[in-house]
Amino acid sequence: MFRNFAAVMKIFCIGRNYGEHARELQNEIPEAPVVFMKPPTALLKGNDFYMPEFSNDMHYECELVFRIGKNGKHVDPIFAEKYIDAVSLGIDFTARDIQAEQKKKGLPWEIAKAFDQSAVIGPWLPTAQFNTYPNLHFTMHKNGALVQDGHAQDMLFSPATLIAYISTYFTLQQGDILFTGTPAGVGQVQIGDRLEGFLEDQKMFNIHIK
Ligand code: MG
Repeated sequence: MFRNFAAVMKIFCIGRNYGEHARELQNEIPEAPVVFMKPPTALLKGNDFYMPEFSNDMHYECELVFRIGKNGKHVDPIFAEKYIDAVSLGIDFTARDIQAEQKKKGLPWEIAKAFDQSAVIGPWLPTAQFNTYPNLHFTMHKNGALVQDGHAQDMLFSPATLIAYISTYFTLQQGDILFTGTPAGVGQVQIGDRLEGFLEDQKMFNIHIK
């Protein structure tokens, strides 16, 4: 018997990590990172997102995504970036109507955020390809029109801060994934929409809403 860590990979996600996005949803600027998780079954396979029947207000949230390259616990922020071994761009699909009900009741968000196909991740690019994370620029286009335009430097909590914070509570394992929050410009998707994401100049995903 051996443990396949990739099979038990955790997907960490951060909410409200860009000030403009927190404001567009009338949320307060958080004092500490807002952490939630998705199970591995949330990963979208292929390029087609099938609109689930349980929501009437499905939103895209385009986000920078990092892959954890080694195991760690209580990681010092100074060394935290060394735990990232690859970068990608993804979508944190959110059933905004369900999330709003859950928030109103003070209940957890999983049914609004962690359902099947809710996590889109593009190809993994080695971190060596980039000088520093603060300079990363990404965009998302819906049906050819620019809808989100983000810079990692605008994160309220940097990747290093997030990794240090998360590892206070959860053991990081090689293969874990971190969604780092979405910039302003989130919005609804409809059947027939096409979502394209770009990290710097590289096309990272092309998702069709079915
Ligand atoms: Mg998000």
